[in-house]
Amino acid sequence: MNKKVWLSPPHMGGGEQKYIQEAFDTNWIAPVGINITEFERGIEKYLKGKKKVVALSSGTAAIHLALVLLKVQQGDEVLCQSFTFSATANSITYVGATPVFIDSESETWNMCPVLLEKAINERMEAGKKPKAIIAVHLYGMPYNVEKIKAIGKKYEIPIIEDAASALGSMVNKQQCGTFGDYGILSFNGNKIITTSGGGALICKDDKTKDKAIFLATQARDEAPHYQHSHIGYNYRMSNVLAGIGRGQLEVLEERVKARRRIFNFYKKTLKHTRFQFLEEPVGYTSNRWLTCVLTDSYSIREKIRVSLSHQNIECRPLWKPMHLQPVFKNCLSYKNGISEELFEKGLCLPSGSNITEEELNRIVGVLKDF
Ligand SMILES: *Cc1c(COP(=O)(O)O)cnc(C)c1O
Repeated sequence: MNKKVWLSPPHMGGGEQKYIQEAFDTNWIAPVGINITEFERGIEKYLKGKKKVVALSSGTAAIHLALVLLKVQQGDEVLCQSFTFSATANSITYVGATPVFIDSESETWNMCPVLLEKAINERMEAGKKPKAIIAVHLYGMPYNVEKIKAIGKKYEIPIIEDAASALGSMVNKQQCGTFGDYGILSFNGNKIITTSGGGALICKDDKTKDKAIFLATQARDEAPHYQHSHIGYNYRMSNVLAGIGRGQLEVLEERVKARRRIFNFYKKTLKHTRFQFLEEPVGYTSNRWLTCVLTDSYSIREKIRVSLSHQNIECRPLWKPMHLQPVFKNCLSYKNGISEELFEKGLCLPSGSNITEEELNRIVGVLKDF
């Protein structure tokens, strides 16, 4: 059997264990410590000082906290990109609100601005003005930040920017994660850099950051005893894991370059085939977290997927849109057929920054047979 090729495995940089050792040496084996503050400072610097960052236990926790901070409540509606990973939409239900799903545009595969505005108008006519918009930079490709931002501003609806898979992506040189009222990142094991599990909330200033930390650490009032006037959460990142994050930040730029190289390799070697790739709109830079290809049909996609699995190569159909998920079957959705077509014909190819040339050649060998 050939050695397994994973879709997007962790890729350590070498510096991680030094920071973990530091946590052990100083006995800060807790959700407090230098690694956390330094990891946050490192991301803030990477985001060019535009925002403040709170390290959390997951990206999902970050979306939940953003909704809490925006005071989204029971009975509210939140507009959510349908073509995404379930974590984006699940968090909406944690606060008792209901997602309204918005389909994609073909340029970025992300939230369609036209359908977004249509949904806002119709929900407002129904007397249900949406409380927030969650747009996603899926697979690292930025969503149409200019148009979505303008719509949010026009209707005064705050935007949560799901940049879980888009650390290192940019629009006109501005980092993804800094466009929304809140941004969220994920450091899950399969993301471009990882802390094994973890995430971050990106917020506008120190005051908001303090509020987020307060809620993420059980919302304790100032008192010698434990006193609470708010519902809190246990969402802070561990200082041990933040040590992994510090080491990973040191190689983030290399990781972005490697993923982009992998995308270009696939594109170049498959140039004379019928596979289609998602191109970057002018001014847009994707970190190319996962390289995705579109095939001619569902049946060809499935044949390729099965062939790759037989070769011990992990691959995955593109996300099944949330409006097709059984768990969200009763939710309202605004559709145009784009995400359904992507789901039918699309495949994510192995894109880990530690993939070898031999493995890449094995993969394109299988693809070229089609
Ligand atoms: C990974 C991911 C999340 C969730 O992040 P976790 O850290 O795994 O909770 C949310 N949204 C998108 C688009 C993701 O890719």
